[in-house]
Amino acid sequence: MARQVPLERVRNIGIIAHIDAGKTTLTEMILYHTGRTYKVGQVDEGTAVMDWMDQERERGITITAAATSCQWLGHQINIIDTPGHVDFTAEVERSLRVLDGGIVLFDGVEGVESQSEMVWRQADRYNVPRICFVNKMDRVGADFWNTMKMMRERLRANPVPIQIPLGVEASFSGIIDLVEEKALVFPKNSNPMVTTVPEDKLETFEQQRKALLESVAEADDDFLLSYLEGEFGAAQLKAALRRATISGRLVPVLCGSALRDKGIQPLLDAVVDYLPSPLDIPPIRGFTPGSKEEITRRPDDEEPFTALAFKVVTDPFVGRLVYLRVYSGQARSGSLTYNSSRGVRERLGRLLRMHANYREEVEEARTGDIIAATGLKNTLTGDTLSDPHSPIVLEAIRFPEPVVSVAVEPKTKADQEKMASALRKLEEEDPTFRVRHDPETGQTLISGVGELQLEVLVTRLLREFRVEARVSRPRVAYKEALTTAVRSEGRFIRQTGGRGQYGHVVLLIEPLEPGAGFQFVDQVQGGVIPREFIPAVEAGAREALETGVLLGCPIVDVRVTLLDGSYHEVDSSEFAFKMAASIAVKEGAKKANPVLLEPIMKLEVTTPQEFLGEVINDLNARRGSVEGIETRDNMAIIKGRFPLAEGFGYATDLRSMSQGRASFFMEFHSYQRVPDDLAREIISRFRGRR
Ligand code: GDP
Repeated sequence: MARQVPLERVRNIGIIAHIDAGKTTLTEMILYHTGRTYKVGQVDEGTAVMDWMDQERERGITITAAATSCQWLGHQINIIDTPGHVDFTAEVERSLRVLDGGIVLFDGVEGVESQSEMVWRQADRYNVPRICFVNKMDRVGADFWNTMKMMRERLRANPVPIQIPLGVEASFSGIIDLVEEKALVFPKNSNPMVTTVPEDKLETFEQQRKALLESVAEADDDFLLSYLEGEFGAAQLKAALRRATISGRLVPVLCGSALRDKGIQPLLDAVVDYLPSPLDIPPIRGFTPGSKEEITRRPDDEEPFTALAFKVVTDPFVGRLVYLRVYSGQARSGSLTYNSSRGVRERLGRLLRMHANYREEVEEARTGDIIAATGLKNTLTGDTLSDPHSPIVLEAIRFPEPVVSVAVEPKTKADQEKMASALRKLEEEDPTFRVRHDPETGQTLISGVGELQLEVLVTRLLREFRVEARVSRPRVAYKEALTTAVRSEGRFIRQTGGRGQYGHVVLLIEPLEPGAGFQFVDQVQGGVIPREFIPAVEAGAREALETGVLLGCPIVDVRVTLLDGSYHEVDSSEFAFKMAASIAVKEGAKKANPVLLEPIMKLEVTTPQEFLGEVINDLNARRGSVEGIETRDNMAIIKGRFPLAEGFGYATDLRSMSQGRASFFMEFHSYQRVPDDLAREIISRFRGRR
């Protein structure tokens, strides 16, 4: 079957925004204008199409990266949903990884907010070409030029208006298109109307058009020549602007109002005109499995099949759905592929292209596609699927640390079982979500990157999966580390009647530098322990480190070296060696001067100057530190750090400290040692609870 849409007419984009900037409303409008939705949903009434989970409806925030396809001017636009809340940065991160271009949305009143800065930097890291849309131009206080200024200052970007607003606030009626040199107004309930640039806007128009031409000329040598000679048309200008946008040299800026349906069609035109197709991005790079040899794949249907799984969801209708971004080649539904990240074969089931309100079953996934597949049993987020004959492993997706946890205790045995299977599903869907069982308290601990994320997950557990359980308040996810190296011996020997058990190991257990992770080294000589039992020793050590000796938290950054041991011809087994290693690690860890680590968050607070003193005093009281203070106009921006343990409820406290005028955002920075006296207190409280 031939391609439905040529590759150069495909756009894989995301809409990137601070929460409340209007992403859901804009997406709705885009779907409306691209003709796939019958009725425009309104976020405020909770019927938005992209927000298809109950909870999102209730909260009015978008938390899943569902992808939706639509058509505009013969192009296929795949919109990969990105969440706006900072707790869901993992979602942003994985969406950025698979999209080719982005619309960055700003609230025309608020301008560039703290969190937009963070997402902007993430997008920089992935070299995502962008266009910006200054939304809410109809709101009281909207200011296009101030937003431009903030973009320049706070994002250190090179934003270039390709439109300017016609009117503002209640009188906002449309835009002046600087490229096509015309004005567009958007009357209520009718098609946009083209008009000439109004008299009173002529001067600004001339000025801004000149600025646009100069910026493009500066960014693009080809255009520079035409510009100097004064010979170019709109098509040439667009082509140059496209090159400059894709190379990241400049960022075109548009404006409008999603709520009032103004400026949406020109925005869609800009997606087509300026954002890259899969052909415009560099070939994807990866490695041959198990080697360091780099290979690349061109975006071409004739190349071997290469796809990245970027999202796993359990769908109530079709079961497990894996969202794929296809980088090269093609694969038919029902065909065999190879999960090269895990080394297993996987058969593709049905292939579904998701539209706003229906699923289209397609026969094959092709280069550039964003598609959901059923039937993949062993594929998790971040895995690469490839042609079984030409395997490639793409770089995995980076995920933030889970730093907050809650304990869940099912009410009955039946709930216990339901919960275990529900948690497995949720864990598969969200790679930043971890589940751990504490054998000593019998509690199940679930951890994530933020309070809100856990709240959402717990609600799903209780509601969608109908588990009845008691849930603790969120706590910091502590970790443990060792501070001295120890030699430790472990024996697991049972020799009373029948077949016995015999495992015996001597281990060296050493702390490593922060972030080094777990390492295992085998140093036993000449068959002291038969080869086949070595992996069991490693597994036993690894497992024992999962539950630490102070609070039962994982012990991190440790090297375990197998030095010596012994075995028995008949009684030795993998099990016995695993137990022996586990005993050695548990005993060793107690003697290795363990310490408690806590997550430290990077914090940025924006507050009116008058509350600066109070905010800083409060930060100090929270064991925080201030690293820098910048002032902009009447606002102060404080950059600093504080332990997450002191950060619960910060949003509420900051609000009351500043009469609701300060805002903040935080993200994980690192794990650091808890001060000794505090650690003692935490540990004794923990033991008391037990
Ligand atoms: P999201 O959190 O980015 O998805 O933002 P929403 O689409 O949920 O919008 C947040 C709020 O802003 C809602 O109350 C919208 O009705 C409102 N909103 C969105 N776009 C506009 C706009 O262009 N003008 C005005 N005045 N309000 C808007």
